[in-house]
Amino acid sequence: MALLFELAGDLLATLDGDGRLGLLNPAWETHLGWSVDELRGQPIERWVHPDDLERTRTQLHVPDHEGARFADFANRLRHKDGSWRWLLWNGRYQQGAWHATARDITDSMQLQRQALHDPLTRLPNRLLLMDRARQALARLHRGRTPVAILFIDLDRFKAINDTLGHAAGDELLILVAQRLREVLRDSDTIARLGGDEFVILAEDLEGDAEAIAVAERVLHALEEPFRLAGADISMRASVGVSVAHDPSTNAEDLLSEADVAMYRAKGSGGHDLELFDESLRRQIAERLDIDDRLRHALPRQELHVAYQPQLRLDGRGRVGWEALVRWHPHGALQVEPSEFLPLAEESRLIVSLGEWVLQSACAQAAAWLRRERMRLTVSVNLSARELAEGDVTERVRAALQSSGLPASALCIEVSEQAAIDHIDSARNAFEGLKRLGVHTALDNFGAGSASLTLPGLLPVDMLKLDRTLIEGLDHDRHKRAVANAMVSLARDTRLRLVAMGIESERQLKLVRKLGCPVGQGFLLAPPQVPV
Ligand code: C2E
Ligand code: MG
Repeated sequence: MALLFELAGDLLATLDGDGRLGLLNPAWETHLGWSVDELRGQPIERWVHPDDLERTRTQLHVPDHEGARFADFANRLRHKDGSWRWLLWNGRYQQGAWHATARDITDSMQLQRQALHDPLTRLPNRLLLMDRARQALARLHRGRTPVAILFIDLDRFKAINDTLGHAAGDELLILVAQRLREVLRDSDTIARLGGDEFVILAEDLEGDAEAIAVAERVLHALEEPFRLAGADISMRASVGVSVAHDPSTNAEDLLSEADVAMYRAKGSGGHDLELFDESLRRQIAERLDIDDRLRHALPRQELHVAYQPQLRLDGRGRVGWEALVRWHPHGALQVEPSEFLPLAEESRLIVSLGEWVLQSACAQAAAWLRRERMRLTVSVNLSARELAEGDVTERVRAALQSSGLPASALCIEVSEQAAIDHIDSARNAFEGLKRLGVHTALDNFGAGSASLTLPGLLPVDMLKLDRTLIEGLDHDRHKRAVANAMVSLARDTRLRLVAMGIESERQLKLVRKLGCPVGQGFLLAPPQVPV
């Protein structure tokens, strides 16, 4: 028996009801660094972690009968080097003392901790957050006050990360985590989901108003600049808030509602908060419905292409058409492109939709060319997602080949904003298109702020002046000046120019006066689906 005591790898001990250690085997020294003599007789405070003290005292209290047991009790003990070791205890009370075995589980506790925490900020990760959210929602059954999830996304994090480097980006995330800890209650869970996304789980709130107040506190706390790499970095955030009053709420749903609300806050320019409420819920249901119906629109032949002529403003006829997609669901009202294209863009449906428009437009234009035998171009719009995904040049080459349309009769339009957001893909695509002999155009030109430099960065043939510039010609001096600058730019760099959205005689006159040779607009000719 004595030999087994000597050889056992687990820690063996006797303890009295005050937690004082008695007999100890040599394994104690191996695991905790102290000699057996140093430990024996020491009061409980000397070896148990302060946070575990109360539980340990309760556990070791003298039981009311011989043979009482405890099982799988975990606490932390001080190692001689100052660190803490987790032990898992089993014990039985006999002859006035606890006879206990303990196993060192520090390594597995650390693994568990790592599995539940973000290594950079040491905040709980998604797994732990969702576990706590489920527990909080379960507590709502017991008549507790609402639970809220706040989804926080830093507004310019990517730009800061790209400019200052990843090390500085990491440091900023750590500072943000610290600041969030400072402004929130200890009972709130702050988690990092990855990237620049943080989530707060707050319980015991009075209601929606208090959840919004927490979000305001977060926005305010992040406004104060962060000192990073010797510079003051100001950080802004968008916060989405979702509040659960009902215990049947699903934790995943609550998180995704807060996520949706955050996107809404970001969409309205960032540095804002948004509450997920009934109207947002309705809008999302409508969007899902449109998305679902749009998936069937192509096979059900509900999509059409309308063509809007581009006309010379000196009265000498047409130079081409712009192909514009139309969706008329069977038995329902027509849905506007501004409504369904952003959804198609989000869901990748835009790629197959765009391909279909491209093929239809090429086939239609080839038929017109055969009939009219004139030099005309058909313009097809390409969205940001289409630019970023797939080989644009290859798709265009295939459409030209199958329709028999000459490359010089096709123009691909990309909006100024899409080109700025995906400058590398745009350059690749435009270079490939130029090699094929296809024309390229920058659409909605002059709507943003980077317009003047953009044509220098891409091989482009045509600029399409944004409708807002034309609309502002007669009453907005700034817009008039911008439009003038665009016309000079086009003239000096020999780019073709089209004025978009001419709706009135007065606008037509002003566009002519500006010196813009070609126009497109409801006044000249609306888009029409060929019969
Ligand atoms: P966009 O490329 O700027 O196309 C011109 C838009 O202005 C069209 O709207 C056209 O109907 C409208 N428009 C033309 N003249 C006037 C006018 O005098 N006044 C006003 N207020 N509007 C005028 P639509 O057809 O609703 O298309 C909206 C946008 O959707 C297009 O803007 C384009 O960016 C996108 N789009 C349309 N068809 C396609 C497509 O097949 N693929 C892709 N990727 N985008 C498309
Ligand atoms: Mg266009």
